[in-house]
Amino acid sequence: SGVRDLLLSRITDVADYPKPGVMFKDITPLLADPKAFGALTDALVALAGQYGATKIVGLEARGFILAAPVAVQAGIGFVPVRKAGKLPGATLLQSYDLEYGSAEIEIHAEALCADDRVMVIDDVLATGGTAAASLELIRRAGAEVAGVAVLMELSFLPGRERLAPTLGDAPLDAL
Ligand code: IMP
Repeated sequence: SGVRDLLLSRITDVADYPKPGVMFKDITPLLADPKAFGALTDALVALAGQYGATKIVGLEARGFILAAPVAVQAGIGFVPVRKAGKLPGATLLQSYDLEYGSAEIEIHAEALCADDRVMVIDDVLATGGTAAASLELIRRAGAEVAGVAVLMELSFLPGRERLAPTLGDAPLDAL
């Protein structure tokens, strides 16, 4: 579609970042183009409506940038999932495996309630580890996962497969 082509045209490949052998997808040109950023926001707002979302969870850090305007435009609350140690209140913590080592993310324990249907937004789905851990946090916080939306899915990695068991019946949309 036109939106897909516009978004793709504003994402650039950066070789050997953050380490040799990695091709990094850089979304800063998209963020700098209000037409592209606006089209992305509109598409995510439409998905929030499809999901029947009552909260938007953004994943640190680029997920925050994409999720915040969606929450405002959809008229629903924004909740951050942050790297461990950054949230001031009582939190739930989830660990997950990386290629080398592990990572920890947190959510405020009181940020969601039992009748919340949560839409998760991030920029890139790579191995799926970050998204899977965030879904665990949302469920542990007592809410329902309504769907996961990412700007980009790296389809040469098995992220969708890794996420599938955690996702259950919830949709995963890559724009
Ligand atoms: P995963 O946990 O392996 O799926 O990695 C996803 C997380 O890493 C997301 O929060 C992304 O922001 C980040 N990430 C992985 N690869 C890229 C990339 O090529 N560009 C931008 N972010 C990336």
